[in-house]
Amino acid sequence: MLLPKKGNASTPIEVQRKQLPIYQAKAQLLNQLRQLQNAIIIGETGSGKTTQIPQYLYEAGIGRLGLVAITQPRRVAAISLAGRVAEEKRTQIGKLVGYTVRFEDVTSSETKLKFMTDGMLLREAIGDPLLLKYTVVVLDEAHERTVHTDVLFGVVKTAQRRRRELNKVPLKVIVMSATMDVDLFSEYFNKSPVLYLEGRQHPIQIYYTKQQQSDYLQAALVSIFQIHQEAPPAHDILVFMTGQEEIEALARTCRDISKHVPDGCGSMVVLPLYASLPPAQQLRVFQPAPKGCRKVILSTNIAETSVTISGIKYVIDTGMVKAKRFNPDSGLEVLAVQRVSKAQAWQRAGRAGREESGFCYRLYTEQEFDNFLPMTVPEIQRCNLAGVMLQLMALGIPDVMNFDFMSKPSPDAVRSAVDHLELLGAVERREGPVFLTPLGKKMASFPLEPRYAKTILLSPEYSCSEEILSIVSLLSVDTVLYNPPARRDDVLAARKKFTSSEGDHMTLLNIYRAFKKVSGNKEWCRENFVNSRNMGLVKDVQAQLRDICLKLNLKLESCGSDTSSVRRCLAHGMFLNAAELQLDGSYVALDTHQPVTIHPSSVLFQAKPAYVIFNELLHTSRCYMRDLCLVDADWLLEAAPEYFGRKLHLSKT
Ligand code: ADP
Ligand code: MG
Repeated sequence: MLLPKKGNASTPIEVQRKQLPIYQAKAQLLNQLRQLQNAIIIGETGSGKTTQIPQYLYEAGIGRLGLVAITQPRRVAAISLAGRVAEEKRTQIGKLVGYTVRFEDVTSSETKLKFMTDGMLLREAIGDPLLLKYTVVVLDEAHERTVHTDVLFGVVKTAQRRRRELNKVPLKVIVMSATMDVDLFSEYFNKSPVLYLEGRQHPIQIYYTKQQQSDYLQAALVSIFQIHQEAPPAHDILVFMTGQEEIEALARTCRDISKHVPDGCGSMVVLPLYASLPPAQQLRVFQPAPKGCRKVILSTNIAETSVTISGIKYVIDTGMVKAKRFNPDSGLEVLAVQRVSKAQAWQRAGRAGREESGFCYRLYTEQEFDNFLPMTVPEIQRCNLAGVMLQLMALGIPDVMNFDFMSKPSPDAVRSAVDHLELLGAVERREGPVFLTPLGKKMASFPLEPRYAKTILLSPEYSCSEEILSIVSLLSVDTVLYNPPARRDDVLAARKKFTSSEGDHMTLLNIYRAFKKVSGNKEWCRENFVNSRNMGLVKDVQAQLRDICLKLNLKLESCGSDTSSVRRCLAHGMFLNAAELQLDGSYVALDTHQPVTIHPSSVLFQAKPAYVIFNELLHTSRCYMRDLCLVDADWLLEAAPEYFGRKLHLSKT
């Protein structure tokens, strides 16, 4: 049975808009939204909430006195949705419809509908706590409960109240969610009404594995080709995985195998989808596959609810997700591959039944599923809160410990965050209350994690601000290097000339310097496996960070070839992320004594220096340190004599 694909690209966009489930509810919805100051809207993924509601508001003249902000947890969603809405409105992006994400602002004085990351709206609130630019704030994807959205709940609630008290133009707050569990939202916003959109969910057949799978990637591969051999080509497959590296690796394997499948099996296009994918490639997932060809999309949890892809009949759910995990005792935040919640698993399954009945293959047993957590724990309860605490204090929130959180973080986590900020010199405790120091105030002006902001602010002392700005920019942009495993030897040969025995930071800096020397020449980038687009972004980021430095009157100097001052500065700013080599050749993180390992991608993998600082921890089979820099023990002691002297017995090398 060959079913035609629905919503194909040739349907005019106006018709597509009217076919969305939300269109039926438009009049009623507008009627309600006109009257309500707070509303919660629930609707299945793909019903048209994100793309249509902002347009409906605009067309009906609701909130005309200001802008409509629509927040998204992910930058890629903000960018692609703004693009889609601009297309529907037949305008150029950046005019009526624009977007603002960290380091990128595509808006103008004409912009009325502004898609933005939740983190960006929070930053804007620092300069304008009442959010006076906006008449409507739509907090989208609220069910994801990112830490920024959670803090925004409190910020918009306060802004709304203050604006009422001050007789300013009222602020309308619309919370949108793809899941039904919204009691908490409604309760929080003074029992605001919940509007349900009629969904269009078709039945989905769920299959579990009979046995536990030790290798979910292998299991996914087998399932993809089983479906590929049995199902008609018009039925696309969506596979949920955890991250870029495994997605790219599986994509390659699929492409290789698909060349050798039996005749009559049809061909397949394999499309990755993850946050750091260049936008042009992201858009490919929305295009229908060529006739007779099957689309296989390998995606992170971004396809759970943030973006809707048509044509999906089969979902393969590995049951895994990469997410933050936090240990308040140590203050260390770890990215870990872990089980999804039941709610997430249901969202994933739901992607198979948008246009007609579908199938979901769960690569875990039913017993395993029974043991999944019912709901995803809000990020605010499992991340390092130092950055958020710094922002709240910069927002002038007097009593951070008692901020009106929808779900309170644990007191331990709050204390740990304050300790972290105190160690960085950003806050001071004066008999109980916590105050932002002048240094902390400066740190909050950077859209960066506190330790990076601190490192930048320290850099003039070491006369290496230019280098530190480059390094922080390089680390702020998703990977600037290509590492195609099939060409591993070529990559190694090309990298060799840049590799620094002092670590990954210095290696990246060498590559960046070479990139600038050839003015970003495309051919050079190809030969050296450098992602030219992301490198271009690094330059933009650096320019923005430099502007902030100039406003703060920092002296920007380059240390030239004296790389030890750069490493000294990094040691000073990042001392909380340091690790020490043990006699048996293993490493422990210095503040917790947690065992850690150098990630194989690091240039220091073989070298094993005595002391390193690292950027992040990634927990898969072991706890890996990623992006390392060689440092001296003395520098760490210098950076925080009391901390290391008291807590640790750092052996002088
Ligand atoms: P919701 O927010 O309720 O999940 P959306 O408004 O995001 O729904 O999506 C509604 C529809 O718009 C989707 O089903 C899809 O067909 C279409 N759409 C959204 N983004 C794009 C895009 N970038 N390209 C093509 N179609 C899109
Ligand atoms: Mg949406």
